[in-house]
Amino acid sequence: MSSCCVLCGRDFNSNEALQQHKRDSPAHKFDYTTCDRRFRSATALAQHLRDAAVHTQSFKHLTTFAIPPRKRKPTTKQKPSTKPEPIKKWSMYPSLDTDVSDLLSEDNLFFSFYEKDDDNSCIDDYDTNIMGQFACTNPACTAVWTSKQIAITIRRYSNKRYNARVYYQSCKRCRTASEPQLDYSYAERVAYRLKKWSGVQVEPPFFSGQSNGPHMSDLCEGCKEGHCSKIVLGL
Ligand SMILES: [Zn+2]
Ligand SMILES: [Zn+2]
Ligand SMILES: [Zn+2]
Ligand SMILES: [Zn+2]
Repeated sequence: MSSCCVLCGRDFNSNEALQQHKRDSPAHKFDYTTCDRRFRSATALAQHLRDAAVHTQSFKHLTTFAIPPRKRKPTTKQKPSTKPEPIKKWSMYPSLDTDVSDLLSEDNLFFSFYEKDDDNSCIDDYDTNIMGQFACTNPACTAVWTSKQIAITIRRYSNKRYNARVYYQSCKRCRTASEPQLDYSYAERVAYRLKKWSGVQVEPPFFSGQSNGPHMSDLCEGCKEGHCSKIVLGL
């Protein structure tokens, strides 16, 4: 008795050989094992693969094996698995504490950087904007841009501690969330806010240059988190 594999169109001289083939052939990686269904023809199988929700993810993969079966060598090469890493939407910059401390020392103030990114235990928090540059983190995209509207949340904690969250922006071209390279406006804004909270009379830091257009909230992680002042000169 001969057995036929409908997917590959091959005949086998025993059912055992057919089962062996189904176990070993990459073309069968998903089909029978997933649904354990049989189909009258390769067309029926292809139809099922197109329609069944369980196959939609691997459909592209399957078609390369299933059609056309004889001409194409089955390949075991697979797409590199894309592990879903948690997407970062903001960062803190403890290394810039030196600049902040220098500015605070002008008014004999001392704050230490609080490493814990804690939104709940702060005494004060304030949303404003700073300036910086972005280079898209997508290696396939070379977009670079500058922004005078990078959202930042400055926070004060007990015992003269502070920190700040700086929100990413998404690339206009490919929508990848990217981390900014900050300029000195970070230290100026953070020190200004800490001085104000400490009751020191301070002049707002001079902010040079024009806005580079309206704030694009859909690209701003600060807006999405509800922590963006959206004002270019917002202090
Ligand atoms: Zn087969
Ligand atoms: Zn199926
Ligand atoms: Zn990009
Ligand atoms: Zn925003």
